[in-house]
Amino acid sequence: MLRVDHVDKSYGDEEVLHDVSFEMESQDVEVIVGPSGSGKSTLLRCVNRLTEIDDGAIYLDDVEIHDIDENDLRRRVGMVFQDFSLFAHRTARGNITLGLEEVLGLSSEEADARAMDYLERVGLEPQADSYPAELSGGQQQRVGIARALAMDPELILFDEPTSALDPELIGEVLAVMKDLADEGMTMLCVTHEMGFARSAATTLTFLDEGRIVERGPPEALFDDPEHDRTAAFLGDLT
Ligand code: ADP
Ligand code: MG
Repeated sequence: MLRVDHVDKSYGDEEVLHDVSFEMESQDVEVIVGPSGSGKSTLLRCVNRLTEIDDGAIYLDDVEIHDIDENDLRRRVGMVFQDFSLFAHRTARGNITLGLEEVLGLSSEEADARAMDYLERVGLEPQADSYPAELSGGQQQRVGIARALAMDPELILFDEPTSALDPELIGEVLAVMKDLADEGMTMLCVTHEMGFARSAATTLTFLDEGRIVERGPPEALFDDPEHDRTAAFLGDLT
């Protein structure tokens, strides 16, 4: 359902992604790990065209993403950000209804009902009328996930969704992500949570300096990596 085909991306003279290729099937959970600056966020941003690639191509269900209307692409490919990116002046529910009304064109009643369904799904129905500042980081990120889910995307991109959280709040977000994975959501996740990678990933990719060093089933990379760099990196994380 997603095919990243020989993608290159530079910022000025700095090549950030070099000949990156991989494919995901529907219901796959792809986990990407790599050092800071290795191009992980750039790769995710290329998939939903927040960033444009220089060379290669990206296909969603065999259609090149430039041939997909940009609104349509953003609806079909959801994104969850490290810093939550919630609208501070809108309630939890209001953060979810915005896209439902403006992108999907639902009436405010329909949007409201759908937002409540998804807040319930992430365990936040009681916080529906709270503003982000009144929520913990873990709760804010669960709103971020509910907001992405409510658009009924085919694929969700997660960019280090727990990196900004205090350690005691990471588990509640990972639990929501694990549930989604178990339900068959197609997920492309940048995360250093190796417990999640082991238990939820269909495929683990190690990206270093903009190149895929190694990619395969998580057990293979953890227990029998082909490259010393993979072993060293994963060894430091676990
Ligand atoms: P990661 O998410 O793995 O930490 P990024 O994709 O954020 O890596 O960044 C990869 C490299 O690209 C870094 O060297 C970063 O400084 C650079 N970079 C990222 N975004 C931009 C941008 N908008 N303009 C210029 N350089 C950027
Ligand atoms: Mg990043």
